[in-house]
Amino acid sequence: MKYNFGAGPCILPQEVFKQASEAVLNFNGTGLSILEISHRAPEFEAVMDESVHLVKELLNVPSGYSVLFLQGGASLQFSMVPANLLAEGQTAAYLDTGAWASKAMKEAKLFGNVQVVASSKESNYTYIPKDYEIPADAAYFHCTSNNTIFGTELFSFPKTPVPMVSDMSSDIFSREINVEDFGLIYAGAQKNLGPAGVVLVLVKDELLGKSGRKLPSMLDYKIHADNKSLYNTPPVFSIYTAMLNLRWLKAKGGVGQMEKENTAKAAALYEEIDRNPIFKGTCQPEDRSRMNVCFVTENPEHEKPFLKLAEERGMIGIKGHRSVGGFRASIYNALPITSVYSLVEVMQEFAQKNA
Ligand code: PLP
Repeated sequence: MKYNFGAGPCILPQEVFKQASEAVLNFNGTGLSILEISHRAPEFEAVMDESVHLVKELLNVPSGYSVLFLQGGASLQFSMVPANLLAEGQTAAYLDTGAWASKAMKEAKLFGNVQVVASSKESNYTYIPKDYEIPADAAYFHCTSNNTIFGTELFSFPKTPVPMVSDMSSDIFSREINVEDFGLIYAGAQKNLGPAGVVLVLVKDELLGKSGRKLPSMLDYKIHADNKSLYNTPPVFSIYTAMLNLRWLKAKGGVGQMEKENTAKAAALYEEIDRNPIFKGTCQPEDRSRMNVCFVTENPEHEKPFLKLAEERGMIGIKGHRSVGGFRASIYNALPITSVYSLVEVMQEFAQKNA
């Protein structure tokens, strides 16, 4: 038995992988592969329409927003957001909560001014800063809703006088959000949504076309919106698999149900981290992520033997990111709570032998 606690790319339920693999050989009884049917064919248009519809339904997207399936990953969004929303000479406000936020800021500086409203860099990003002001003349405010590497989550979003932009790559569809609070949301698909190669963007239409900048077509949200994400050849397999996964999510009870399950999974794991004398969490308790649980051993000498035991017991992908060390258990939507219980058992077994 294997338990996949990997941070990505693409952690989906087995049944979704099975359906996706079947469509590689025979898509919807056509005798053709999903990979070979034309992306302009009515069959694929139906896939795109259903994908957009499911995103709107599951996230309760109000009218006035475009739902786009683009390429270039979340990393290209670090550039597309300022290219489209930040006019030359204007300032964008960024909350610096980790490596991905820093990368987003780096790209934004190519297009305009960046004001860092707050940062937790001095503590190696172990918490979410809460005391800051967002300038009323900023073009937008950017935050990362879940910090995949450092294991912190924004449980509440600030009230902003300017449009809020959020990188939700590692927690989209894991929790309820009020889309109306955001001007733009982007998410690389490869955690809770689908295979790498597609990025989801929800953008308020009224924000588009205001930067005054001439954009290459592929970087222009408006062109993608006008062409319903079919300006060029879309990543058909990634979108199709995302659609299957969204169907699964809907059948499971939707995002609210997912949030309940994710909260219970995270609580079970953090409870053990806090109770077990061998381990300690790396982040401030009130900011601990429900998607990426980071922890270390109190005694550094316990790190390797615990990793070895966990791997022997079938745990995959729990080695921590190099910027934090220790362990990171990613507990995305597709990971059942029973896998968390199994990890907790291994932690207890290790403590019995070593505490
Ligand atoms: N933002 C966050 C929060 C991430 O977790 C990641 C990747 O894990 C990225 C951005 C970068 O995504 P991509 O590799 O799709 O460019």
